[in-house]
Amino acid sequence: MSPRAKKKIRIPIPDDLVARIMYQQDHTCCKCNVRGLPVQIHHIDEDPSNNDPSNLAVLCSNCHDGTMISGGFGRKLNAPLVTQYRDEWIERVANRRDEADKLAAAAMSGAPKAVVIATDPETYEDSETDYIETPFERPDEDDLLHYVEELPSILNQAFRFTDEKRASGITLHMNDGAAEIVDVLEQILLRLSYWFPSKHFDGKPAAEFFSKYVADRFTWHRALAEPYGEGTGGTIRGQIILGGVIDDLEDAVADVVAALFWGPDSTLDVEAWTLRWKKSGTE
Ligand SMILES: [Zn+2]
Repeated sequence: MSPRAKKKIRIPIPDDLVARIMYQQDHTCCKCNVRGLPVQIHHIDEDPSNNDPSNLAVLCSNCHDGTMISGGFGRKLNAPLVTQYRDEWIERVANRRDEADKLAAAAMSGAPKAVVIATDPETYEDSETDYIETPFERPDEDDLLHYVEELPSILNQAFRFTDEKRASGITLHMNDGAAEIVDVLEQILLRLSYWFPSKHFDGKPAAEFFSKYVADRFTWHRALAEPYGEGTGGTIRGQIILGGVIDDLEDAVADVVAALFWGPDSTLDVEAWTLRWKKSGTE
């Protein structure tokens, strides 16, 4: 049989599966972990009809090339290696979200997650239980007010906790520290989304929507920081990109709070709160 005859038929990955894989792998290449690069979903076994989640890995185009280039001992990036990078990355993303949520949720009086998204590829097998959705019930308004009042102090803590890393002068650590603040802001947006109906944002689970929202901010600020193409922004570009994303997410939180407390009967002085919030984000 000629190689052409053996070629498998490409079956498009269903949109909701794409959204979940992208959420799970944070819209980020599982090999190089550079945020804001264009990515694609790679079929690990090279069979484009096998859309089993265990066969799908998010890769940037540079790293994807590595799955095709042959070196002395075969492919630079073979299937077992991609699987290993993918599994480690999924675990790191999940841990990062958990850690950030501990701080973001510290002041919350235990409102349940509106949508629980399974992040373990194993659980995808059972498609009926992927999403555990609880009927929407708007949490208590007093809890919201209490939570929002605490947000400036939560953001301030995120800055303080990461102070050492961000001031270390070591690019890798500085970037890690700033990325942790991004994670906390993302989790704050997610927590605030409990006061909106389920799938309020673009018909998507809030976790998926905000993960894409943050990924798009990275794409935007990377494009601005590397005006002549990827890698042209110099060594400081990581910090510039992260700083831009942090600013945008602080604004997004302020917008959500303003929307939740809109109107003449608002129990929050939005203007005064916004001033406090902005100050807490400037270290
Ligand atoms: Zn990559």
